[in-house]
Formats: sequence, C-alpha cells, structure tokens
Amino acid sequence: MLASLATLTFLAIAIDLQQGWAVAMADSVVTATLLVGVPPIIHFAQLALTSDARAAGIDPLTGLHNRRGFDDQSMTLAQAARADRSELSVIMIDIDRFKQINDRFGHGVGDQVIADVGSRIKAISGSAAVVGRVGGEEFCVALLGPAAQAREVAEQIRAGSESLDGMVTVTVSVGLATSTLPTSNAAPDNLIGQLVADADHAMYSAKRQGGNRLEVWSVTG
Ligand code: GH3
Ligand code: MG
Ligand code: MG
Repeated sequence: MLASLATLTFLAIAIDLQQGWAVAMADSVVTATLLVGVPPIIHFAQLALTSDARAAGIDPLTGLHNRRGFDDQSMTLAQAARADRSELSVIMIDIDRFKQINDRFGHGVGDQVIADVGSRIKAISGSAAVVGRVGGEEFCVALLGPAAQAREVAEQIRAGSESLDGMVTVTVSVGLATSTLPTSNAAPDNLIGQLVADADHAMYSAKRQGGNRLEVWSVTG
C-alpha cells in the first residue's frame, strides 16, 4: 500500500504538462481512489471520461488518435495527397524492449514513458501530421510532403531516445514508407493501407537488426 502510494506520488510529480497529462492524472486518481476508498461515484465519473475519449477516436493516455481515429484521419490526408498530387509518407514506431520497463519500474512508469514518447513524436511530426497510438507501445504518423522531409522526421524520432534516471534508455525502432508521385491513380484507402503495411515491415526489419534504427522498406506508387 505504501509502495503503491509512493508510486502514485512519483507519477504525480513526474507527469509534466504535455499532451495526455490530464488523462494520466485522471488514471492516477482512479487508482488512488481504489486504494484509499473514496466513494465509487468518482471511479465511474473518471471511467466515463476515459470511454468518451475512446469513442471520439482519441487515446486517453496520450491524447493522440487511437487506431480508429488514425484510420479516419489518415484517410482524409490520403484524399488530400491525391487531390494535391503530393507525396504521402507513413512512419511506424515501436518502443524497444518496453516490457522490461514495465517489469523493472512498474506499469505506471511504463504508462508515463508511452505518454512522453507520444508527446515527442507529435512535437517532431508537426501540426499537419496525423499521429496515432495504434498499439500498446506502437505509434503511427502519416504526413504529406517530400520523401526527404519524411525521412528527416523519422530520423529525428529515432534519435530522441530517453533515459530513465540513467537506469535504462528508451529507444525506438522506426519504419518509413513513402508513396511516389503521382498518387492520383491510387484509391486513398489502398494507398494508406499499403503505406502502413510497408512501414510496419520496415519497422520490424529495424527491430530484427537490434532496434534503435530507421529502415525504409519500399516505395509504392
Ligand atoms: P520489442 O523490443 O520486440 O518491441 O519488445 P517489447 O517488450 O517492446 O514488446 P512486447 O510486445 O514483447 O511487449 C509490449 C508490452 O507492452 C507488453 C504489454 O504488457 C505492454 N503494454 C501494452 N500496453 C500498455 C500500456 O498501455 N501501458 C503499459 N504500461 N504497458 C503496456
Ligand atoms: Mg516494443
Ligand atoms: Mg509492439
């Protein structure tokens, strides 16, 4: 109990004012109320907030799109790419050996790492990009613009590893896929689906080579 409360105190201090902070705090409050016995009505109110966010296509932990939200928004971006005859890229990101972070520091710290990595990806990708948390510790970015620019964003995401009190370093594996011009012949859903699949293959290739790596899998038309 004391250990759990200490963890909660640490979390409350550690959470900075980034995307998702309010929800992370709400999650901590839910956990705290379960521990110290505050009336159940508060639990239901907090849980309702979380499920509202999910219904809106938002991941409550990071404030990014969830998978459904990402699918919707990236489709809109693909339509824009087709209309503008612009290049479209997808970047897939997976935290390396994340299970070890949960095992060593606890699920709460793991959650905080996910929120921090998500905030960093969002900041690097720019406001026009569509950024989602599409799995437990997986993120996906869709962005318009030249392939070289997307590659720079992907490399910046890879380079920004974080250290947890010097005890463990958080690195990511990154996969990039970019469509060539013109994209006008490809249906938007086919295009984005293909790019996500290619970026996913590239990310797993980076992972197989030891992680903390960027791989560019293929270029599709
Ligand atoms: P790899 O380097 O191959 O990517 O290994 P990994 O440990 O990062 O990946 P693996 O798929 O083996 O484990 C992912 C872990 O992420 C397992 C799961 O319990 C944890 N996880 C999934 N969602 C959440 C979450 O929302 N919060 C926390 N703290 N952990 C989560
Ligand atoms: Mg992982
Ligand atoms: Mg994973």
